Amino acid sequence: MKTIGIIGGMSWESSAQYYTIINRAVRDRLGPLHSARILMQSLDFATIAALQAAGDWKNLGEVMADSARALEAGGADCILVATNTMHKLAPEIEAATRLPLLHIADATADAIRSEGLSKIGLLGTAFTMEQDFYRERLGQRHGIEVIIPEPSDRAEVHRVIYDELVAGEIRPASRDAYRGIISRLADRGAQGVVLGCTEIMLLVEPADSPVPLFDTTRLHALAAVEFALGD
Ligand code: GLU
Repeated sequence: MKTIGIIGGMSWESSAQYYTIINRAVRDRLGPLHSARILMQSLDFATIAALQAAGDWKNLGEVMADSARALEAGGADCILVATNTMHKLAPEIEAATRLPLLHIADATADAIRSEGLSKIGLLGTAFTMEQDFYRERLGQRHGIEVIIPEPSDRAEVHRVIYDELVAGEIRPASRDAYRGIISRLADRGAQGVVLGCTEIMLLVEPADSPVPLFDTTRLHALAAVEFALGD
């Protein structure tokens, strides 16, 4: 079994989900006493969020590269960045080591394509919804058309992530708000909706949506298990 290297803590609420999903999948595949070989660099999200808000992506790139190097030195065989947003820095992370980066958008795109869908809605932080790095990966590499919520809905999605979900707060009013936002994306032609922030799966589930949901946390974690147990 290969060792999965995770850059996590962004937030730890979702990293805990990765840890659980990966270990359960390995147990299911190999037997009840088996668990995954995992190395995690768990960062202090307050520091990361402050640098994001300041737009200091250069500094964040160095933090990510340092974490990747630490995972390589510790014996990891791959790198998993347990957040959609920080995939903005995928080039810096890939340049820092020789390890493969298992990209969260690739794992998600594979699931979308295998359902035969080609137009999806994207929920995530403002960085993920509004900047190019994520939408272009889905669009140019995988041929998936991406639509995002209207501005006031985007602001609400972003606010709930940073004010509530990363702190482990799950509020029914926010779930209702997300349900409405997901419905409006479906009304605009989204055949499915990507939960493109690794904490959103703490708030919504398939029953909250009229179209299929793509939980990036789960899809990414399972892609890591495939890698770890593959040849
Ligand atoms: N976990 C979130 C994501 O998947 C947001 C936290 C972050 O900015 O890294 O984008």
